[in-house]
Amino acid sequence: MQPFAYARPTTLAEAFSILQAYGRDARLLAGGTDLIIRLRDGTARPTIVVDVKRIPELRPAIRKEAGRLTISATTVMSEIASDERVRRHFVALAEAAAVVGAVQIRNRATLGGNICNASPAADTAPALLVYGADIVAVGSAGTRRIPITDFFVRSGQTTLQEGELVVAIELPLPSGPTGAVHLRRTRRRGHDLASVTLACLVDANGVTRLAFGSVGPRPVLSVDSSGVLADGAADDDAKAALLEEMFASASPSPGSMRASPEYRSAMLRLLGRRAVGTAVGRLAGG
Ligand SMILES: Cc1cc2nc3c(=O)[nH]c(=O)nc-3n(C[C@H](O)[C@H](O)[C@H](O)COP(=O)(O)OP(=O)(O)OC[C@H]3O[C@@H](n4cnc5c(N)ncnc54)[C@H](O)[C@@H]3O)c2cc1C
Repeated sequence: MQPFAYARPTTLAEAFSILQAYGRDARLLAGGTDLIIRLRDGTARPTIVVDVKRIPELRPAIRKEAGRLTISATTVMSEIASDERVRRHFVALAEAAAVVGAVQIRNRATLGGNICNASPAADTAPALLVYGADIVAVGSAGTRRIPITDFFVRSGQTTLQEGELVVAIELPLPSGPTGAVHLRRTRRRGHDLASVTLACLVDANGVTRLAFGSVGPRPVLSVDSSGVLADGAADDDAKAALLEEMFASASPSPGSMRASPEYRSAMLRLLGRRAVGTAVGRLAGG
């Protein structure tokens, strides 16, 4: 591992001045479950690592206020998976957080780190996409809210600007009943990154939101507003054709060691059908 300096700012202003001084040579550290691996294998070679966990605005917190649930960036997966408000309003996010790594990882891995790392296989990304989350980013120029659909660019790259960090993720509380689920497929049982990770949300108007990752350079959201997918009486062929359209942007990499493109495509369709069925069932079951 290449030697690096370590800073642990206790205010945002302090963090901004370090980021300004070091530019691209600085890397933020939250739980470290992605970054430490990259430091060890040399794919990240920062001059300074900036630990964000002592900054009050980023400290672990889940708050329900003004029509939304706000999850601060350093909130870890185990807290999200067990939080009663997340489980009630955003069950697909709770389910996604519950399958990240093993318990030791879930006690360190943060929501901010999961999305800022921008792996196409990030398990919380599809749930955040179907729930229409906003990413709250701050920099020395101020605060901006980035719709999650505008956040991911490609593997390892987001639309965060240099010197910006994520303080929180905001989820609008659903205005009516919904049914949702997160599903994924891994190479083996137990702990593994997803070959396909997918979330589905159905609302009382029959609108179906499907988001999927690990089948292209970034996670993608696709929406059926026709009501066909969620309609129990609709023709199976019409549903299959619609799902094909919704998955048209999937482009699994042929170079991946985790699964072939053919396998990922087949699993995407299988999980998609299952997820719609489960989400519709949950909506009906209240
Ligand atoms: C054994 C193992 C199993 C895993 N299993 C899974 C899995 O099943 N599913 C899954 O999705 N992931 C998995 N991961 C990956 C990892 O645990 C998650 O992506 C985790 O959520 C990363 O969070 P972190 O706090 O550890 O991030 P860190 O490693 O601290 O940071 C990750 C990246 O985000 C940046 N960053 C962190 N916080 C901020 C912020 N507030 N603002 C701006 N940038 C920031 C860092 O600079 C870095 O580039 C696994 C990792 C390991 C080691």
